Amino acid sequence: MLRIYCPICEEARDEPEYHYAGQAHIVRPSDPDQCSDQEWGEYLYFRSNLRGLHREMWYHAAGCRKFFNVLRDTQSHEVKASYRLGATPPDQEEVRL
Ligand SMILES: [Zn+2]
Repeated sequence: MLRIYCPICEEARDEPEYHYAGQAHIVRPSDPDQCSDQEWGEYLYFRSNLRGLHREMWYHAAGCRKFFNVLRDTQSHEVKASYRLGATPPDQEEVRL
């Protein structure tokens, strides 16, 4: 079972309190009327299936009822970090150093 830290509640809780909400940082095309069907389809349906560090969105259903992001290793299931929506992902901060 995963133990996930909620950055809004500021405490770690067990996974059953949360719902997985998909890949994080999906960018909607700025003008859907101007993009091709292929671009729109990729935005709607295609997600990366990474082995290793993956940025995910989670929902704290049994807590604050807020969405936040998690950086998780898909091989070990280790949660590396949790951060609020709109914040810079921790793995990108490390790259900048
Ligand atoms: Zn919470």
